[in-house]
Amino acid sequence: MQFRTRAIHVGQQTDRETGAVVPPIHLATTFVQSAAGIYAEFDYSRSGNPTRKAFETTLADLEGGIGALAFATGMAATHCVTMLLSAGDHVVAGTDLYGGTYRLLHKVIDRAGIRVSPVRTDDLGALERAFTPQTKLLWLESPGNPLMSITDIEACAGLAHRHSALVGVDNTFATPVLTRPLSLGADIVMHSATKYLGGHSDALGGALVVKDRPLFERLYFLQNATGAVMAPLEAFLCSRGLKTLELRVREQSRTAQRIAEHLAAHPRVRRVRYPGLAAHPGHAVAARQMDGAFGAMLSFEIDGSLEQAKRLVESTRLFRLAVSLGAVESLVEQPATMSHSSYDAEARRSGGISDELIRVSVGLEAFEDLRDDLDAALAAAFS
Ligand SMILES: *Cc1c(COP(=O)(O)O)cnc(C)c1O
Repeated sequence: MQFRTRAIHVGQQTDRETGAVVPPIHLATTFVQSAAGIYAEFDYSRSGNPTRKAFETTLADLEGGIGALAFATGMAATHCVTMLLSAGDHVVAGTDLYGGTYRLLHKVIDRAGIRVSPVRTDDLGALERAFTPQTKLLWLESPGNPLMSITDIEACAGLAHRHSALVGVDNTFATPVLTRPLSLGADIVMHSATKYLGGHSDALGGALVVKDRPLFERLYFLQNATGAVMAPLEAFLCSRGLKTLELRVREQSRTAQRIAEHLAAHPRVRRVRYPGLAAHPGHAVAARQMDGAFGAMLSFEIDGSLEQAKRLVESTRLFRLAVSLGAVESLVEQPATMSHSSYDAEARRSGGISDELIRVSVGLEAFEDLRDDLDAALAAAFS
């Protein structure tokens, strides 16, 4: 079956008792056992919950995995992966990463004696040099956040596996509609379900998907042992989100492509970072790795000052000034002071996140309205 059919039907059975087409939300925290010490599929909702399981089953299918684990947030999902590591282990992580992931890697797990080396994952030579015999995990995003760098996942997975390291891919930006990292050799796919999977800015969530049963069991053990599971209402909302995921991602990507082309021709815009533009250094890899579209996130630098960049993001009317992304409503933000303020200033600058960089998440509104909104904000910033 095709992706969008599976997104609606896999894991989402009608309720056998009532015939309800939409499965009910199971809020129960505990489940009756037939006898002392006898366990059925569900016993306690931290360990397993039918509504959470429905979402996990659909997502595992869409990512091509053998199982998924749903978490309270994306960060809880990433944290669970880092709990596979021990003191003395080494992590190689991309430089174009979500701000919260940078904070987790460089300001939390480093205290447990885990060393982290930031490397540009779109530079395979630099990546190769970063591996040591202690390297256990390569962590990357493609497209990266907020610079929209494109990483060749298949090449990275080959390289990491030669060094016996696991490969984790944060697939929040691409979604399984456009990229399926497990099929490219990655071991773990991570999502902030808060973004495209939920899709409506009303549910926090995270997920891991794997294709290897023993790895799934290790991660399940850690999730159950530490407890940051997705709640039933959020699982229901994320299942609902998945049903329209392909339609939303394809339509939002189509509009993003047009916005990127429009901005690239604007005299006040110095550079547009969008993998769908032929001038993007990762365009060829993206065209191969992404399925028919380039996503709905883009960033751009204006030919102006920090003050003008601030004025721009404060002048849009449809694009709401807010962090987060991936929902039906368009959002705009300034990474240096918002999503990536948890980076050290030096790491931000050396990584290329300038003060004039503006990131937008293109929503489902009409292209013409979004274009006019950006044009008006650009005019206001330079007036
Ligand atoms: C938002 C985000 C996260 C973190 O997810 P939360 O649900 O906010 O914890 C991780 N990676 C990317 C790319 C994100 O956009």
